[in-house]
Amino acid sequence: MSEPREVVIIGSGPAGLTAAVYAARANLHPLVIEGEPSSTSDQPGGQLMLTTEVENYPGFVDGIMGPDLMHAFRAQAARFGAEFLTHKVSEVDFSGTPHKIVVNNEEISARAVIVATGARALTLGLENERRLMGHGVSTCATCDGFFFRGHHIAVVGGGDSALEEANFLTKFGETVTLIHRRKELRASKIMQDRAFANPKIDFRWDSTVEDVLGDTSVQGLVLKDVNTGETSTLDVSGVFVAIGHVPNTDLFKGWLDMEDNGYLITKGRSTYTNIDGVFACGDVQDHTYRQAVTAAGSGCSAAIDAERWLEAQPH
Ligand code: NAP
Repeated sequence: MSEPREVVIIGSGPAGLTAAVYAARANLHPLVIEGEPSSTSDQPGGQLMLTTEVENYPGFVDGIMGPDLMHAFRAQAARFGAEFLTHKVSEVDFSGTPHKIVVNNEEISARAVIVATGARALTLGLENERRLMGHGVSTCATCDGFFFRGHHIAVVGGGDSALEEANFLTKFGETVTLIHRRKELRASKIMQDRAFANPKIDFRWDSTVEDVLGDTSVQGLVLKDVNTGETSTLDVSGVFVAIGHVPNTDLFKGWLDMEDNGYLITKGRSTYTNIDGVFACGDVQDHTYRQAVTAAGSGCSAAIDAERWLEAQPH
C-alpha cells in the first residue's frame, strides 16, 4: 500500500479550498477531493458556484461573481501545490489510523482528514416538483434564470437566498412572485428593502405551494392560503425553490457526531470532531452563520488544527 497522505480535504467550497491554501503553504501536500458535477445543487466549488454577485466577501469593493471567486480560491490552492481529484467520495473508514477514503473504487489513506462537504439546497418534497426539476423547477437562479426571459416566475422562500434569487430573476422575468409561508420575511433588512423597492417583484404572503402543474414543463402552481385554506392557481412557467439547505453528511453517519439536523459537531471553538485526526469546517458544521467568509475562516482553522495535530503525533 502507498504511503498515507498527510492531509486529505473532502469538499471544495470556500472552507475546503481555504484549508487547501493553508495546508499547501504548510508543506502538507493536500489532496482535495472536490466532488464532480452531478446536479445544479451539488458540484465542485460548492454553493457559490450557484450564486450571482457576492457583495459581502471582504476585499471586493464592487462585488464578485460567485463562480469567479471560487475559481480564484482553487487557483490559489493549486499555486501552492494542492492536488485535486474530481470525484466523489463513496465511503470513509475512520476506525483507525491512517484514515481511509474510498474514491472511484480506490482507497486513499490519510493521516489527517478535513471534512468540508458543505450543504445543499432543500426542496419542498412534492412529487411534481421532483418530476419537473430541470423543466421549469430549479434551485439555482444563476444556472437557470436565463431560460425564463420574458416569463412569469415564482420564487419560494422568505430568506436571503429567496430574495437574492427574486432580485436576480427580475433581470429575466416579466414578473417575479415571491411566495412565502408567513407574513414576515426572514431575510436581512438590506435584502428586504431591495426586494420591496423592486417593482417587478410581487409578494404572496401566508401561502404554501401545494402542487406544481404541467405535463412536460411547469405551467403553474397550486397555492394555499394558510389562514383560509383556500387554494388558487398561479400561472408561472418557472419556479425557483430557495428554502434553505441541509448539510452533506450522509457519508459520515456512524463515524462523526452530528446534531439532530445532521450538522457535524466540532469541539468548542476548534474544528476537532469526535475522531482523532478528522476535522470539520464550513457549512457542514455551521448552521448559524453559513457565509462564504465564515466558511473560509473555519477552513483556515481546520488546516491549522490539522497541522498542529500532525506535528504532535509520534512519527
Ligand atoms: P433560510 O435563512 O433558512 O431561509 C429559508 C426560508 O425558506 C425561510 O423563509 C423559511 O420560512 C422558508 N422555508 C423553509 N422550509 C420551507 C418549506 N418547506 N416550505 C416553504 N417555505 C419554507 O435559508 P437561506 O435563505 O438559504 O439562507 C441561509 C443562510 O445564508 C442565511 O444565514 C442567510 O443570511 C445566508 N445568505 C446570505 C446571502 C447574502 O447575504 N447575500 C444570500 C443567501 C443566503 P420561515 O421564514 O417561515 O422559516
